[in-house]
Amino acid sequence: MINIKDNIAAIEQQILQACQKNDRKFNEVCLLAVSKTKPNALIEQAYQAGQRHFGENYCQEALEKINQLKHLNDIYWHFIGPIQSNKTKLISENFTWVHSVERLKIIDRLNTQRGEYCAVYSDKPPLNICLQVNISQEPSKSGIMPEQVDEFAKRVTQSAHLTLRGLMAIPQKNAPTSTYLYMQDLYNQLKTQYSSVDTLSLGMSNDLDTAIAAGSTMVRIGTAIFGARDYQI
Ligand SMILES: *Cc1c(COP(=O)(O)O)cnc(C)c1O
Repeated sequence: MINIKDNIAAIEQQILQACQKNDRKFNEVCLLAVSKTKPNALIEQAYQAGQRHFGENYCQEALEKINQLKHLNDIYWHFIGPIQSNKTKLISENFTWVHSVERLKIIDRLNTQRGEYCAVYSDKPPLNICLQVNISQEPSKSGIMPEQVDEFAKRVTQSAHLTLRGLMAIPQKNAPTSTYLYMQDLYNQLKTQYSSVDTLSLGMSNDLDTAIAAGSTMVRIGTAIFGARDYQI
């Protein structure tokens, strides 16, 4: 049987070692547990082990979980999957972070709809936004091109109900270290322009060490916590 608590402890140990190796502080790197396709019982185990940030890719699946886990009221839900325009309202109302923003129209919709939501629930903060960058520049992959970051960042910072937190990327399998360092460069440039930027969402179960060496501040870990996924939705 899978032991979520032990898996989280092992990942934290790996993060700690990567931080030490790269002269970074352990508390600079946030662990995002990616729970897509995994049942609530496992999410609850992770929660009991102290995990608070969870990532989901599929809106419908996520909403069911969010509703069923309402009693765990200090969870931060992060949306990390492709965004369809007809899902932005639900995303803007149910998540605290969105990592996968790659269209201007989506920025505008999330802003308007978060605004409407905040008008009703005035205690809700702006939605935290990361722009997804197609760092390996693969035509088939999601994300904006590096040269579009300025335009997109500006649009987010001009949106009253959104906070620009940073950049997200999914490097190609076996991408060279230079890809990661390029991402770090883009992130550092953005940071000098906007004081709200503090997040580089980079690194998954297989490339966590390379990502931390390149300055990642948020690693998105699924398999190494919850085990292999036996299906895709
Ligand atoms: C599924 C997924 C992850 C987690 O991947 P693992 O290899 O299982 O750690 C991270 N980020 C995104 C965007 C994902 O879709």
